[in-house]
Amino acid sequence: MTTTETTTDRYADVSNRSLADVLRAEDAAEEDGLDPFERVSCRLHRRWIHQCVHSSTHVVAVTGHRWCRDCECPAAISVDELLGDVVVRCTRCLRVPATAATRQLVRACRASLAAATA
Ligand SMILES: [Zn+2]
Ligand SMILES: [Zn+2]
Repeated sequence: MTTTETTTDRYADVSNRSLADVLRAEDAAEEDGLDPFERVSCRLHRRWIHQCVHSSTHVVAVTGHRWCRDCECPAAISVDELLGDVVVRCTRCLRVPATAATRQLVRACRASLAAATA
């Protein structure tokens, strides 16, 4: 029988210390009601959001994140780290889904880019 250390740092092995700090802070903020889609760090992939948002795990049909409602089809996201450009585009109709979810995702990725280079 093991007693779980509640104080265990689940990000102790994340080598980027500023990323680990943000992960911890955002995990705590989420408990207090932060919208998970406003996060700049990803709890699942333990990365900056712009580094893992390409993963299919980040397609959320229900909320419309990386999702084209017209085509009911996932949208691709491209992140230009140099220019700070973030573009979401449907893989079928090639349009940008004009939804609040898309704007939120782009905003989060831009903030993530800024935080990663800070
Ligand atoms: Zn992720
Ligand atoms: Zn589409």
